[in-house]
Amino acid sequence: MQEHESHAISRRAAVTGLVAGALVVGLDPVTRTWATAAHAAGPLDAVPSLDGTLRTDAASLAAAADDFGHIVSRTPLAVLEPGSVSDIAKMVKFCRPRGIKVAGRGQGHTTQGQAQVSGGLVIETGPLNSIQILSDRAVVGGGTTWSALLQASLAQGLTPPTLTDYLGLSVGGTLSNGGLGGQIIHHGAQVDNVLELEVVTGKGDVLRCSPTLRKDLFDAARSGLGQVGIITEAVVKLVPAPATVRRYNLFYPSVAALTAAQRAMCEDGRFDYLEGQIGLAEGGHTFLMEAVKYNATPADDAALIGDLTHTSVTIDDLTYWDFADRIGPIVDILKAIGEWQRPHPWLDSVVAGSAVNSLVTGALPDLTPEKIGLSGVILLYAIPTKKVKAPLLRLGSTRELNEKYAFLFSLLRTSSPGSLDPAAMIALNKAFYKKNRLRGGGWYPVGSNPLSKAEWVVHFGTAYPAFLLAKAKYDPSRILAPGQGIF
Ligand SMILES: Cc1cc2nc3c(=O)[nH]c(=O)nc-3n(C[C@H](O)[C@H](O)[C@H](O)COP(=O)(O)OP(=O)(O)OC[C@H]3O[C@@H](n4cnc5c(N)ncnc54)[C@H](O)[C@@H]3O)c2cc1C
Repeated sequence: MQEHESHAISRRAAVTGLVAGALVVGLDPVTRTWATAAHAAGPLDAVPSLDGTLRTDAASLAAAADDFGHIVSRTPLAVLEPGSVSDIAKMVKFCRPRGIKVAGRGQGHTTQGQAQVSGGLVIETGPLNSIQILSDRAVVGGGTTWSALLQASLAQGLTPPTLTDYLGLSVGGTLSNGGLGGQIIHHGAQVDNVLELEVVTGKGDVLRCSPTLRKDLFDAARSGLGQVGIITEAVVKLVPAPATVRRYNLFYPSVAALTAAQRAMCEDGRFDYLEGQIGLAEGGHTFLMEAVKYNATPADDAALIGDLTHTSVTIDDLTYWDFADRIGPIVDILKAIGEWQRPHPWLDSVVAGSAVNSLVTGALPDLTPEKIGLSGVILLYAIPTKKVKAPLLRLGSTRELNEKYAFLFSLLRTSSPGSLDPAAMIALNKAFYKKNRLRGGGWYPVGSNPLSKAEWVVHFGTAYPAFLLAKAKYDPSRILAPGQGIF
């Protein structure tokens, strides 16, 4: 096992853990509670000595039993705040023979308990936040946020090629899911821009992997929903960053007009970033294509939008940072008005290009403030399927069906006053998921659409057999990330 001093936060010799300020010395094998020397009733399984802290206080357990969804709550036995990668390895090795399940937790921004583990160990990856910027890549701890990484890389004129809309997510968390954003039209998802990973497997081994080293682990860790290991370090590609962006908000009259424009712009490649939204408007909906060109000026307008057939357009210029962090100030407002703290039964669907117009147009009557919520958002944007290479980042069956495009159709619901309760919203998610599956679609598994084990097999489709083999090899006791409900 390697020691990783770069991750060590405050190295403390032979410290074990803390229970409300007292040292945890072991696990009571009968009651399965962590105990201090003073409270030990009998012989204890001694916990390994750690560089970090093992917490069992009520506040830590409550925080780890919650997430951005505020729908599911599973209380763990303990929360590890690692002081080093070896802490994670030691605790996984400790938990495995005792049948204690383990989940990594980045920012807890999934919405249905994916990072929770009832009666198990939650490993907070936040302390693994080291950042090293090199000329064309960054070496970062798995708990680093994309916001911190971008700030550091921009200081050297560099950026990750693809960014999520919101930057307050952990690198390990989005790499475990996919990491989608408007630059996917050129660069693929974040999982397609990772050069190497360091992973602590379900056996407690610290392993590096890449396209040429343990490819099976590399392919199962990216978009693997935490099933084969905890990502403790990632080597992420960097490219030159633009100084400014010019953003064109182009409005279209219908779903079909919007998706046609998005396909055309993907083919043409003139923009650097392309997303889209359906807005809730008085008596109907708006259809927006958000198209961004890096380092453009008003002189470029004729070439960029002169031949497009939108109904209206607004244009603005932003620094690259302000563009990348555009959700940050909105989050501050949502927090201030209490919407951020409400339940979020999100559904992120992947819809096949051949079905997008009929499915999304058919869904419009269900896109109402009552069903989406006061601050709900509806995303609709194109993903050229060939740009996504990571095998476990599923785009429904679109790749197998040779669909040129899939579309992300995200219903970012908030259960606000006056809107449906979370259970009713989850039922709507399930109904759309089932309809969408029949048309070759699927879902991006960050939200609230609990799948049965059989549905997970369908979800992974042709990638399932290799995933199953990797699970058996790297997490044979199936202790990792049980909140996903896959195995
Ligand atoms: C406001 C907001 C905006 C978002 N925007 C986007 C977007 O634009 N594009 C996009 O793709 N997604 C987006 N997401 C979804 C986001 O990518 C996922 O929720 C992602 O899981 C968030 O990372 P996290 O650190 O919060 O993960 P968590 O919720 O903490 O964990 C998610 C899962 O990954 C596992 N996990 C976490 N860290 C690790 C690790 N280091 N190693 C292995 N497994 C781990 C957990 O066990 C859990 O199963 C958004 C979410 C929110 C709330």
